[in-house]
Amino acid sequence: MIKVEHLSKQFGELTVLREVNAEIKKGEVISIIGPSGTGKSTFLRCLNLLEMPSGGRIFIDGTDILDKSADVPKLRQKMGMVFQSFNLFAHLTALENLTIGPVKLLGRSKEQAGKKAMELLKMVGLAEKAGSFPDELSGGQKQRVAIARCLAMEPEIILFDEPTSALDPTMVSEVLAVIRRLAKEGMTMAVVTHEMDFARDVSNRVFYMDEGIIYEEGPPQQIFENPQKEKTRVFINRVR
Ligand code: ADP
Ligand code: MG
Repeated sequence: MIKVEHLSKQFGELTVLREVNAEIKKGEVISIIGPSGTGKSTFLRCLNLLEMPSGGRIFIDGTDILDKSADVPKLRQKMGMVFQSFNLFAHLTALENLTIGPVKLLGRSKEQAGKKAMELLKMVGLAEKAGSFPDELSGGQKQRVAIARCLAMEPEIILFDEPTSALDPTMVSEVLAVIRRLAKEGMTMAVVTHEMDFARDVSNRVFYMDEGIIYEEGPPQQIFENPQKEKTRVFINRVR
């Protein structure tokens, strides 16, 4: 579904991504781990062109998204993104946060979008909060609304950038439960996370990022129990 070749990204003098090569298949759940400042967020942001890569190629379903003729809005719609900081529209209710995109960008009727939005709010356990504004919700509830909003756009893949890092510890599990459920339903996802238990149980593969590359990748058993490279080993021992 996604193929990344020789992806590089510089900010001025700073090289953040040196040579990232990766493949994400349909239905896979990829966890991306690594020390802070190693370009994990930049990598996700390059995938949906929130950052413009400095070099390399990115194919989504075989389409080169850096090609001038690529339909970038359509490609973006295929890729939902969930941020650490929720990024809900503060002046809209939970329900309206879910319906605005489908109405404005997918051409759905208000009624259709509303019906789907209620189903999604129910799925994340927040049907009774449909009329609440973001500042009336807890962090965990906000993040579940953000995930539901993302699903309302019917993405083919969801990119999560530390979806639980801004949450009180008591709220982490309710958000991870939603992501686990999506994994079970076969959603393709890439999740930057510090939740090592989650990464171990839920992902098909883990990318350890360091030195501007995917320094080591493998199934969770390899990365967590038997890392092949010294830096991976050091990191895993530190976070364990
Ligand atoms: P991570 O998510 O792994 O913590 P980031 O991708 O956020 O790492 O950042 C990698 C490096 O790139 C950091 O040194 C950060 O300061 C730098 N960086 C990220 N975004 C920008 C930007 N827009 N302008 C300049 N430097 C940036
Ligand atoms: Mg980050």
